[in-house]
Amino acid sequence: MPDRAERPLLFLDVDGTLLPYGAAQRPSTAQEWDDWQNPANPQLAQLVLGHGQLLSELGCDLMWATAWMQDANEVIAPLLGLPELPVACLPDAPQQDEAGVLHWKTQALVETAAGRPFIWVDDEITELDRAWVSAHHRGPALLYHVDSRTGVAEPDFAVLDEWAQRYAGARGRRSPDA
Ligand SMILES: [Mg+2]
Repeated sequence: MPDRAERPLLFLDVDGTLLPYGAAQRPSTAQEWDDWQNPANPQLAQLVLGHGQLLSELGCDLMWATAWMQDANEVIAPLLGLPELPVACLPDAPQQDEAGVLHWKTQALVETAAGRPFIWVDDEITELDRAWVSAHHRGPALLYHVDSRTGVAEPDFAVLDEWAQRYAGARGRRSPDA
């Protein structure tokens, strides 16, 4: 096993990634987001409990990268059987959806990774983010896009696991899929 410090980081989004929107409308107003990020949100029943174990077995150091911030540890982690995880320091999420611009998390995640191999699982990744990471991150990175209606699914974990094993200990080495 590679040195723990050289395990890839795995940045985890919640909304549309672990918590699918399904038939629910994606929240758009501040009030709707408050209701969504609430322990009483009935959509939380759509979390797949087995995903906690699959995530834990990936050989990555898990880190929340979500607008839930510390609330992910309060609400989401217990439902998935995950321990308290570190929370990536992120800027405030934009009030309005922004198309055609770098995602609001991208720069912060590259700074947090600081050259260490990382996977970022998120439903809002675009080619702009991939290009920016490729230009600014010194190590391998996998930006893994998830369909927000269904969220991450079991077959995705095989892809993440293969990548994590391939790039463990690969700080400073470039990956073709960065
Ligand atoms: Mg999301």
